[in-house]
Amino acid sequence: MEFKFSMPTEIYFGKDAVLKNKEVFRAIGHKALIVTGKSSSKKNGSYDDVKKALSQTGVEYVLFDEVEENPSLETVERGSDIGKKNQVEFVIGIGGGSPMDAAKAIAVFIKNPDINKENIFSAGKLDSIPVLAVPTTSGTGSEVTPYSIVTSKQERTKKNLGQIIFPQVAFIDSKYTFNLPYDITVNTAIDAFTHLVEGYLNTNSTYMSDIYGEKGFELFRYCFEKLISKDLNQEFRNKVMLASVLGGIQIAQNGTSLPHGMGYPLTYFKGLPHGLANGVLTTEYLKSFKDQTKIKRMLNILGFSHLGELETVLNRLVGVKIDINPEEIKEYANSFVMNKDKLINHPEEVGLEDIVRIYSKSLLKN
Ligand code: NAP
Ligand code: ZN
Repeated sequence: MEFKFSMPTEIYFGKDAVLKNKEVFRAIGHKALIVTGKSSSKKNGSYDDVKKALSQTGVEYVLFDEVEENPSLETVERGSDIGKKNQVEFVIGIGGGSPMDAAKAIAVFIKNPDINKENIFSAGKLDSIPVLAVPTTSGTGSEVTPYSIVTSKQERTKKNLGQIIFPQVAFIDSKYTFNLPYDITVNTAIDAFTHLVEGYLNTNSTYMSDIYGEKGFELFRYCFEKLISKDLNQEFRNKVMLASVLGGIQIAQNGTSLPHGMGYPLTYFKGLPHGLANGVLTTEYLKSFKDQTKIKRMLNILGFSHLGELETVLNRLVGVKIDINPEEIKEYANSFVMNKDKLINHPEEVGLEDIVRIYSKSLLKN
């Protein structure tokens, strides 16, 4: 048995994680750039907790609260200009995956003043100033991954920045998600679930990463039931947050594969939220495996006797209808098969027809 496992992010998980560990901020630096979305962090208590922790420990801060969903490189440039002008020493990303990913990219741009939206993808490996992350959705796991997914308007797609930016510290407190609306709860939980699935059924999966995956499926056995019955109590919020962290830890090792790569155009061109874009493709992706051994093990842990039962749950939760035609599918499939990064993570041989079939069966149902 051989594997490499690396999780450099220091994780504080639990109630009041930010305030109980406030001295951590001071140890990182004297001045921070706080990066958030437009409004939710001001309503769910996360921004207040961070502000309190910073002022109680004498850390100055400036706020950039303009991150949109699926953050663009233009937004990253604007945020980094503010950080550079104010000579911040570190960045705190508070919110869902969008502000956390933007915070990571901003931290790279601040550290490297010559980097901009035109040259970032050809820049080679770059350092960043430290990033701290406070998730307020239970989905992306970005607080423990090295990825920063940005929207490139020039390339008309979403893509990974291509840098390794693990947050130095993650403060994870599910209380920020207590009032997350049902639809965002579902979308983001499905994202976490697909991280667990794609990390588990991955060329790079190891004994060690499987432990995280299987623990995540065990949590989802409970979480799916609660999502279906809309009984989103605090135990659910805690468990789905933990499952999301486990999913993040797993894709930090293994990467994602087909549904994530295939889902990006559904978000970019059709406006489908990230989690749903992956979720809508998941059943057909699972059916496409010739070797179903690991899928059976996963279904067993999830409490399902066959794939059809998972399909029913996903259909009830995802249930998206998008206006798409076979030509568009061919276009997305053609561009996806060029994305070797995702294809090499898939443990079986797949070609253009397989990708077209997964898209078509998932999206042209009705
Ligand atoms: P998001 O795009 O960050 O946020 C979606 C919506 O949820 C926003 O309207 C946001 O409002 C709101 N929201 C966030 N927290 C809330 C709360 N506690 N209560 C009420 N509303 C809240 O959603 P996300 O699904 O977490 O992130 C998706 C992004 O992450 C995508 O760009 C995806 O590609 C990326 N991603 C990254 C990784 C990674 O490893 N880096 C992995 C998977 C996905 P505000 O705008 O007002 O905050
Ligand atoms: Zn994802």
